[in-house]
Amino acid sequence: MSGNYNVTRYEADIPMDELIRDYFDYEKTHKLCQACSGYAGTWGCPPFDFDPKDYLMQFSKFHMVVDKIDNSNATSVDEAQEWLFKEKTRYDKDMLDMEAANPGSQAMAAQECQYCKTCARLSGHPCIHPDLMRYSLESIGSFPVNLVHDKLGFDILWSDGTSIPEYYLLVAGVLMK
Ligand code: SF4
Repeated sequence: MSGNYNVTRYEADIPMDELIRDYFDYEKTHKLCQACSGYAGTWGCPPFDFDPKDYLMQFSKFHMVVDKIDNSNATSVDEAQEWLFKEKTRYDKDMLDMEAANPGSQAMAAQECQYCKTCARLSGHPCIHPDLMRYSLESIGSFPVNLVHDKLGFDILWSDGTSIPEYYLLVAGVLMK
C-alpha cells in the first residue's frame, strides 16, 4: 500500500530469442515513434546510432517487471496520473537497483526518460546522466502490450482523458546477460 493505492508486482522471464522472434519489430515501433511529438526528444528515444536488435542480442533473456497501480481509490483523473508519475520515479530506480545487483545486466525504463526538465539532446549535447538514462521497451522495438497480455494475462489500460482506468501499469524490466 502506498498512500491511498496498492501496487502489485508481476515478473516473467522471456528468453532473448523469443523476445526477438515474437515481440520485436523496430521498423514498426520506429514509425510509431516518428509520429510522436516527443520523437528524438531524449537520448532514450529513437533514432539511435546503434542497431536495437544487436543491442538486445547482447543479452540472454529479458526479466520483465510489471507494477500494477490500483486506481480504485482515485477520486479524479489527475490524482491517478499523479500516482502513476510518482510510481514511475520509484519504479525506474528499482530497475537501476536490480541492474546493480546483476553484473552485466541493463535496466530498462518505463516509457521515456524524464530525469531532466529539458533533455540535453535538444541542444545537441550528450546525455548528462548516462548512469540513469535507460531505454524503454517501445523505444528499442519491442511491444509491451503484447508481452503483458501473453505473459501475465491482463492488458495495459489507458485513460481517454476523462475516465479513470481500473489500474495503470509500469512495464519494463532488466536485460540479463
Ligand atoms: S538523463 Fe537527461 S540528458 Fe540524459 S536522456 Fe534523460 S533527459 Fe536527456
